[in-house]
Amino acid sequence: MVTIKSKREIELMKEACKVAALAQKAVEQAIRPGISTYELDMIAEKVIRDNGGIPAEKGYPSGEKGIPNFPASICSSVNDEVIHGIPSKKVILKEGDIVSIDLVAYKDGFNGDCARTYTVGEASAPTKRLIDITRQAFFEGLKFAKKGYRIGDVSHAIGEFVNKNGYSVVREFQGHGIGRQMHEEPGIPNYGKAGRGIRLEPGMTLAIEPMVIMGNPDILQLDDGWTIVSRDGTLAAHYENTILITEKEPEVLTIC
Ligand code: MG
Repeated sequence: MVTIKSKREIELMKEACKVAALAQKAVEQAIRPGISTYELDMIAEKVIRDNGGIPAEKGYPSGEKGIPNFPASICSSVNDEVIHGIPSKKVILKEGDIVSIDLVAYKDGFNGDCARTYTVGEASAPTKRLIDITRQAFFEGLKFAKKGYRIGDVSHAIGEFVNKNGYSVVREFQGHGIGRQMHEEPGIPNYGKAGRGIRLEPGMTLAIEPMVIMGNPDILQLDDGWTIVSRDGTLAAHYENTILITEKEPEVLTIC
């Protein structure tokens, strides 16, 4: 069921999203060659808790038999890792790496979800372009995140933009509605046909999240049961915000 949030619920959503954005900012400022993804996880968890939130990814069930719940407060996915990378003391970021940080703050009953890909020190021009195109793809989708348009319009805009720029969108994972639950309906694929799917209405809150691979779209899951990598080993980037559909322009809730 797609939930329409009341005025009060939207206020609470905004608070949860603000906490997520603050944590994202703190991680961004800490990223440098030599830091581990474990340390980034500690920073995010502290900011979320200091602001009255709970890191919602921690303990999130995998849904697969024999695979433990997600052990950390952020997903940290390095280079060819697309999503769901597990923070570790052994993963030390190096000059020229890229790292995607995806985190969810839960506060007063609601979730705020955002992801960014960062460069570690200086990155090459092609690497920076991948990150830029992934970010821009979100904003291409956002143009259609308005009353009267359909989910397929958002999906189509993202997919077309990414393809036009020579990259691939991941097909097995998608954006989602968000609210009391981290994942609510509708699913929001990063590709598809315009004019399809449910119509957007004011009060819907959505996590729109292009996941982009430089080369081939195929992915693999690592043996940890979580980490998703590009099958061809090329770099991947991710950009996500929680947004609110209104009577007019959408509001992006996880940028501060
Ligand atoms: Mg996310």
